[in-house]
Amino acid sequence: MSFAANYLKRIYVKRTPEANKTIHVLSSAFKAEFSWHNMRTLQECREACGGQGLKTENRVGHLKSEHDVQSTFEGDNNVLMQQVSKAIIAEYVAAQRRKKPFKGLGLEHMNDPSPVIPPHLTSTILRSNQFQTAIFCLRERDLLIRFAAEVSQHQTRGESKEYAFILSYQLAEDLARAFTEKAILQTVIETEMTLSDGPLKNVLGLLRSMYALVSMEEDSSFLRYGFLSTENAADVRKEVTKLCSELRPHALSVVSSFGIPDAFLSPIAFDWIAANSWSPSQQ
Ligand SMILES: Cc1cc2nc3c(=O)[nH]c(=O)nc-3n(C[C@H](O)[C@H](O)[C@H](O)COP(=O)(O)OP(=O)(O)OC[C@H]3O[C@@H](n4cnc5c(N)ncnc54)[C@H](O)[C@@H]3O)c2cc1C
Repeated sequence: MSFAANYLKRIYVKRTPEANKTIHVLSSAFKAEFSWHNMRTLQECREACGGQGLKTENRVGHLKSEHDVQSTFEGDNNVLMQQVSKAIIAEYVAAQRRKKPFKGLGLEHMNDPSPVIPPHLTSTILRSNQFQTAIFCLRERDLLIRFAAEVSQHQTRGESKEYAFILSYQLAEDLARAFTEKAILQTVIETEMTLSDGPLKNVLGLLRSMYALVSMEEDSSFLRYGFLSTENAADVRKEVTKLCSELRPHALSVVSSFGIPDAFLSPIAFDWIAANSWSPSQQ
């Protein structure tokens, strides 16, 4: 998500009038996805720290109450995600109408044949960026076609375009998530490609696989629409556990790589036993 945020910042800094649509769609998508993720992460941290996570000095509670509003202000997240789907469907309708290939918003893959997912998913396949890209593209393509068909059906029955979108909000949500997660994955892959082979690239590869596979595990649309079979979904789940073990030795370095100054951290980030001790004279 950091790579995706940096990518968006770079487009914004070098913005041209043509980039306005991309900036609007990506910032809507990333704002919603990141602020939801922020709250989930804080809750995970709170629980992972047990009772210590509740101590005021460890700041998790403060951060939760401070960041909770982000899913509402500057645009409600659900509404922003609907905007994303509206923008994508507009591209779809325009491409169909003009009989021209897709160009922009990362939809160029729609010009190629639909990706085929191997029936048996080995660890090597699951961790390859080609497979991860293929299945994320398949999800986006299929949901876009379904969403367009459903909206069109409602319009054929006499509903207005606006109401047809509202009636199809579940597909709109699924599609926006598919778009956002694919955009994030893409920025990780692009960053990875700038690195030469070595330990840094290896760890980044593990993080990328963790992101892709956790997304596949958690988004029920992979099973709902059959992008993954039940056996494949079980393989994905097992791979996540393996990735956790492999990432564990690197976890602290990965966290440190964000460069968060010590002054922003709480006692639990340091010697938490010392922080909870007192000398006998204080008893
Ligand atoms: C601390 C704070 C500071 C703010 N500062 C500013 C400011 O400086 N300037 C400013 O202009 N505004 C500001 N706002 C307002 C903010 O932009 C709105 O609160 C925000 O856009 C959400 O609108 P709402 O409160 O009307 O909620 P609603 O839009 O009514 O949302 C309530 C619920 O309904 C759901 N919902 C709404 N529409 C749909 C839909 N179409 N489909 C599905 N679900 C839907 C939402 O997901 C949400 O769960 C601020 C708000 C807060 C809380």
